[in-house]
Amino acid sequence: MRRVPVVVLVVSLVMAAVSAAAEDDAPLFEVRRLSDRVLVFQEISPWESNHVVIVGAEGLVLVDPGHSALMGRLIRQAVAAELGRDRFAYVIDTHGHWGHTWGNVAFPEAVAIGHEQASRTIEADRVNLERRADFFRGQLEGVQQRLQELDVASEEAQDAIIERDHLERVTRGLAESGFTVQPPRLTFTDRLDLDLGDLTLEMTFLGRAHSQSDIAIMIPEEKVLLMGCFFLERGPLPIFGTQTTLDPDRWLEVFGAYLGNEEAIEHVVLGQHTVWPRERLVAMRDYMDAMWSEVQSMESEGLDFDTLMARLQVPEPAFVREAGASEEDLEGFHRFEATALWRQLKEPAAVKVEEAINGGGPEAGIALYRELVAGSDTEVYFDEAEFNLLGYRYLGRDLVDEAIAAFQINVDQFPDSWNVYDSLGEAYAVKGDTTRAIELYRRSVEINPENVNGVQALERLGAKAATIPTEG
Ligand SMILES: [Zn+2]
Repeated sequence: MRRVPVVVLVVSLVMAAVSAAAEDDAPLFEVRRLSDRVLVFQEISPWESNHVVIVGAEGLVLVDPGHSALMGRLIRQAVAAELGRDRFAYVIDTHGHWGHTWGNVAFPEAVAIGHEQASRTIEADRVNLERRADFFRGQLEGVQQRLQELDVASEEAQDAIIERDHLERVTRGLAESGFTVQPPRLTFTDRLDLDLGDLTLEMTFLGRAHSQSDIAIMIPEEKVLLMGCFFLERGPLPIFGTQTTLDPDRWLEVFGAYLGNEEAIEHVVLGQHTVWPRERLVAMRDYMDAMWSEVQSMESEGLDFDTLMARLQVPEPAFVREAGASEEDLEGFHRFEATALWRQLKEPAAVKVEEAINGGGPEAGIALYRELVAGSDTEVYFDEAEFNLLGYRYLGRDLVDEAIAAFQINVDQFPDSWNVYDSLGEAYAVKGDTTRAIELYRRSVEINPENVNGVQALERLGAKAATIPTEG
C-alpha cells in the first residue's frame, strides 16, 4: 500500500506519544531529512500528508499545519522530539483546503502566511466545521465496524487500524471544545519572499489548479521546491487541474522559470505521499505543455472532444508507465487532463444557467438550458458535478425552486446517473413534495442499490425502496 519514498536520506520514526492521542505506541510520522535544514514529517495515515519543517537562522517554519489544533500539537511534539525545539516563527499554508490549514490555530507564536484566496477559502469554509465533524464520525464508525469483522493479524486489519486512528484524530480534532478556524494573517497574491537569515523562501502563486490558492515555495539554498497539492497522486497518476477554471499558461511560465537552471532543484515535495526528484517535475511539465498545445490546436481546428481524444498524440511521462499503471488507467489519465484543459477553451453551461436563473428566475434557467441543447452549441459544455454544486448552493440559501431547476437540468442531461435523482429528491423533500421526492429517491436507489443516503431518505419519508422488478 505505501509507496517506497523516492528520496530517503535519513528516515527516523518519531513517537508522538501524547496523552490526548496515542493510546498505543504507533509512531505518527515518518521523518525524512532532505538536508540539515529541511525535514519532511509525513503522517502515517491514508492521507500521508507532508508537513515540512524548515530550520532557518531566524527561526523554524512549518509548511502545512494539518487539519486541526490537535494535529498541530502532534506535529509540534514530533518536531520537539526530532529537533529539541518547537517554537515557530512562521506557518505557511500551501493552499486553502481545511485538511492542510485548520491547524494554523495551534501556532499562536507564529505568523501564518498564505495566498489571499486561501484566506478567503478558509473563512468561507469555517461554517462546515460541525457538518465535517459529523461526516468523519460516520466514517469512523464505519471503520470500527469493519475492524470487528477482520482478523487482527491480517494486512487489511493493519490498514484499517491506521485508518481508524486517523479518523479518530480528525474527528476529535474537529469536535474539540474551543477549536476555531484561523486563516493566514499575512497574505499575498503573486509573490512573497521571506528572508530567514541564512535561507530564503520564495513563495509564488502557481495559478488555479488543485485549488484557487496553490502556491509553490522555493528554497534556493537547499534546492528544494515545495508544491503543496498541485499534483495529487492517485496511485501512480499525478492528477492536476481539478478546478473548473485553470491557469495552464501561468503553470507553464512558473515551471519554466524553476526548471530553466538544471542545478536549481533537487527535491520536489508534494503535499501528500511523496518527494519527487527534479526529473519527475520536468516530465510532468513536458506532458502538460504538450497536452495544452495539442488541445488548443485541435480546438482551433474546430474538432469535437471525441475526435480530439482519438487523435491525441501526447505520451504519458515514462515514470507513470513504469509505476505499473494499466492501459485503462492511462486512458483515464489522459482523458481527465485533456477534458480539464479543453474546458478552458469552452464555456460552462452551469455558469450560463446560473446567470439566467439569477436574472430571470428558475424558468429562465430551464429555458436557456433548452436553447443550449437545441442549438447544440459546441462552445459550451455540461458537467454533472457543476450543476449538482449549483443546486446545492441554491439549496444552502433556501432558494428551493432555483435548486430544483439546477437539479432537474442534471436529470435531463445525465439520466443514467443515480446521484442526479438523489439530489433532485432532496430538493423536493425540502420543498415538502413528499410524493415526488419518494419517486426520485426510488429511481436513484433502483440505479444504485448501494446508495445508502437514498435508502435512509426513503425511510425518513416513510417509504421503502421499490423492489426492483426482475426482468423478463
Ligand atoms: Zn487540497
